[in-house]
Amino acid sequence: MPLQMIRKIKSRIVRFFCEFGGYKVAHKLTRNQPKIMMMHRFSEEPKAGYIDRKILRQQIAILKRDFNVIAFSELIKCLKNKENPPENSIVLTVDDGYMDMYSFAFEEFNRAGLPVTLFVTTGFIDGKCWLWPDRVSMLLKLASSDVEVNFFKENKILPSGLYSSWQAINNYLLPLSLTEKNHWIDQCAEKNNILLPKEVPDEYAPLTWTQIQELSESNVEIGAHTVNHPILSAERLSDVEFELVESKRRLESMINKAVSSFCYPNGQLDDFNSETEAMVEKANYQAAVMANCDCLSMDNPFALPRFAIGDDMYQFKKSVYGVQWIAKSFTT
Ligand SMILES: [Zn+2]
Repeated sequence: MPLQMIRKIKSRIVRFFCEFGGYKVAHKLTRNQPKIMMMHRFSEEPKAGYIDRKILRQQIAILKRDFNVIAFSELIKCLKNKENPPENSIVLTVDDGYMDMYSFAFEEFNRAGLPVTLFVTTGFIDGKCWLWPDRVSMLLKLASSDVEVNFFKENKILPSGLYSSWQAINNYLLPLSLTEKNHWIDQCAEKNNILLPKEVPDEYAPLTWTQIQELSESNVEIGAHTVNHPILSAERLSDVEFELVESKRRLESMINKAVSSFCYPNGQLDDFNSETEAMVEKANYQAAVMANCDCLSMDNPFALPRFAIGDDMYQFKKSVYGVQWIAKSFTT
């Protein structure tokens, strides 16, 4: 049977399981398994790739009813002391430091009294860089109907309006260093007569330091997410060290608190290695999170798994109730 067919059947079985009491079963089976959730963007109105206010309120209502939302630092304390966190523990994390964390999400989390950890890319806040996947999005937005791209010294034409085009460029750029990525994007823009703005456009705008200070003084823990958001395994070790040390230093000087958690940019298993983990520890962090749940073990505090959540409520319930955890534990 072709792999695609097997996957389709598997996902139908999971959906059937969920709809007929599966959430309840998974919730009970995984109640002693703390889970870390990962979010990125928020919006007032529904928008692809963003969690809108209405959905966020539905998600918060479920979290308040069925879970113990604990701070990331509380989870780390439990893991270090080999103590069990409260049953049904969930940790909420938000990556990067976009303005919409303050303008939409914070109000909702705060009203519900839920702790959140925000992983901040400091160069983004300082206005020194905008995140490279956003530059690719902008490039495609500003293009007319097609974009000529160069993959492995071969020219290709991609339709600018398709998500698959963004994905193809992203996949090509992922293994490159940050300098190579930005160089490729600049060259591609030039070739296609596209003028990419120097300043970050409003849609991709970062938080300000004043907002981060306000968040930090409330229920939001601040963690580091590098200075420039490079994929660490693609960088020289001296640059990795700079990204780890300088982001921590900058954050601590701005919020006047110790920063002890770190988040790997892109966060897939290939994006860091045991050498990177050792450098994270040496830079005086207590823990680090990935952006995937391919390895479910929480034994290594420097490679903690996270479940991505967005505006899809089915996906959200699968993640928080532990259906995904169970499915993954059978495949890993
Ligand atoms: Zn990120």
